[in-house]
Amino acid sequence: MKRYGIIGGTFDPIHYAHLYIAYEAKEQLDLDEVIFMPAGKQPFKLNNIVTDSELRYDMVKAAIEPFDNFSVSKYEIDKGGISFTYETLEYFKKKSINEDEESELFFITGADCLLNIEEWKEVEKIFSLATLVVFSRESMSQTEIVNRKKIIEDKFNKKIIYLELNKLEISSTEIRERVSQNKRIDFFVPKKVMDIISENSLYTK
Ligand code: ATP
Ligand code: MG
Repeated sequence: MKRYGIIGGTFDPIHYAHLYIAYEAKEQLDLDEVIFMPAGKQPFKLNNIVTDSELRYDMVKAAIEPFDNFSVSKYEIDKGGISFTYETLEYFKKKSINEDEESELFFITGADCLLNIEEWKEVEKIFSLATLVVFSRESMSQTEIVNRKKIIEDKFNKKIIYLELNKLEISSTEIRERVSQNKRIDFFVPKKVMDIISENSLYTK
C-alpha cells in the first residue's frame, strides 16, 4: 500500500511554508511521496489575476528539486477549466487502481481550508477518497482550528489529522506585494524561484 500526500494550491509563487508543511507531512505520516498539484483555475479565486500556469508549474518544479520523494503533477493544469479537489483525488485513485497498486491518499492543506471546505464541490467524496491533513496557519488561532476541526469531523463523520508546527507567517499574497514594492523576498522563496520571478518580471505592477 503506497501512501501519497497531495498538496494543492495556486503556488503563485510557491514558498518555504509550502515546502515545510509538505516535508513535515511526509515525515510524520510516513508518506512514500508528496505530489504538488498547481491548480488550473481555483473555484474560489476565479476573479483573481493569477500567473500563467506553466510558470507556476516551473516555480514548483524548481523549488522541490532538492527534496526526495517530492513531485509535481500537471493534472489540474492540463485538465483545463476549474480545478476541483474531488476530481483530482478520483484521478489519483483510478490511476493507482489501473497500475494495480493500492494507495492511500492524504490531502495536505493549511488550516484556512477548514473555514470553507464545506463549500467545496463534492466534499463528501473528498472525505471518502482521502484523509485531510491540516497545518496551523498564522491567520487562525489554535482554539479556532480545534473547534472548526471538530465541527467538520462530526458533520462528515471522518477524522482529520491536525499537525502542529511552528507557524511560518508566509503567504504568496505577501510575496507578490513585496515584489511589487521592490522588497527582498529571499527569506521566503528559494533562489531558483526568485530567478523565475525576476526573469519573467512577475508581480511587478
Ligand atoms: P495566497 O496568499 O495567494 O492565497 P498562499 O500562501 O495561501 O497563497 P496557496 O497556494 O493558496 O498559498 O496555498 C496552498 C496550500 O498551502 C493551502 O492549503 C494553504 O493553506 C497552504 N499554506 C500556504 N501558506 C501556508 C503557511 N504559511 N502555513 C501553513 N499552510 C500554508
Ligand atoms: Mg491561499
